[in-house]
Amino acid sequence: MSIRAIRCGTLFDGTGSAPIRDALVVVDNGRIAAVGPAAHAAVPPGAAALDLANRFVMPGLVDCHSHASIVPALGDQIGQLCRGPVPQALAATVNLRADLAAGTTTMRIMGEEHFLDVDVRDAIEAGVIVGPRLLVAGRGLAADNGHGRALASYDGVDEVRRGARENLRRGANHVKIFVTGGVSSPGAMSTSSAYTRDEIRAAVEEAERAGTYAAAHAHGGAGLRLAVEAGVGTIEHGLLASAEDIALMIERRVWLICTFSIFMHPTGIEQGDGQRPAIMDKVRWARRVVAESFPRHLASGIRFACGTDSMHGLMPIELETLVRFGVPPRDALLAGTRWGAEACRIDDQVGTIAPGKRADLIAIDGDPLKDIAALRRVSLVVKDGVPYEGAFGRNGR
Ligand SMILES: [Zn+2]
Repeated sequence: MSIRAIRCGTLFDGTGSAPIRDALVVVDNGRIAAVGPAAHAAVPPGAAALDLANRFVMPGLVDCHSHASIVPALGDQIGQLCRGPVPQALAATVNLRADLAAGTTTMRIMGEEHFLDVDVRDAIEAGVIVGPRLLVAGRGLAADNGHGRALASYDGVDEVRRGARENLRRGANHVKIFVTGGVSSPGAMSTSSAYTRDEIRAAVEEAERAGTYAAAHAHGGAGLRLAVEAGVGTIEHGLLASAEDIALMIERRVWLICTFSIFMHPTGIEQGDGQRPAIMDKVRWARRVVAESFPRHLASGIRFACGTDSMHGLMPIELETLVRFGVPPRDALLAGTRWGAEACRIDDQVGTIAPGKRADLIAIDGDPLKDIAALRRVSLVVKDGVPYEGAFGRNGR
């Protein structure tokens, strides 16, 4: 791959240092080779120039929680997962293209059937289809009577172990376990655990034995605390987390992965399942609870990052919601980049524009540090040094 010299109007590199006006990023063989003020930088001979001098450039977004094949606006998300592999794979190709076009260059997939996510990840890496770099879970581990159960359930310590091991053998990057109830299924949103302590522990142990970690779907209460005590690396959603739950997560250095748009955005659960009164009541209730509690949670010192939970192309909305809940725009950008990379344990590869990192960056028309909504105007995406632009970006949404 050739060398590329990218001229940036403003560069937010995600390292925590102040934005650089008129910067130059040199990309060599898909990786960042050099970063600095353009005035001091030498353009390597033969480098192809990419002129983003009138744009704001930042690291590609890291979506920490999504599903490749689901479209919430179509309703019945579990039913979607239970379709055959072909419609699922076709949906994934469209969805992931929209995600990349909106600036997501890395995405963590939190449960698919048919081990579709493994094949889709590999197809993207091979250049067969276009999409973010994926980190995948394979099948989510769910109890027979628990939230998130699709084609299979895993009950008892031995089945949880077998499920985790099968996912890992098939090529999963991490293990996903559903611990509490959820918003998109009918019935009260339970915060008690569908799994015993020993079952959750088995998932964590198998993940750690394979050199990775377990992520838990948990909204709060006893289920969330059990998952944290059992050693999961990330808590997904946490909509009903109390101050005590958050304090325990801070103590154990567990990440909170916020997923706002799926239940807050009109094209989320509201469009897909909003005609079912029991679900719409839950959605409205969750909105009230989160608007009341999250401004405090996000200011508590907890480590947090964001995920769209299948709201393809809406990472900018997740970061706007953080700002609406009182997070400074700079921290919202970090949550969408470096912190997401840390939560997904790939911060040695992505999340900042720094020498040695993969060349994932996005160009924005406007300054999201002044107006976070500018993030909706991603006009160019570079992944592994390869630019995606023009008709791709417009049609991809
Ligand atoms: Zn999810």
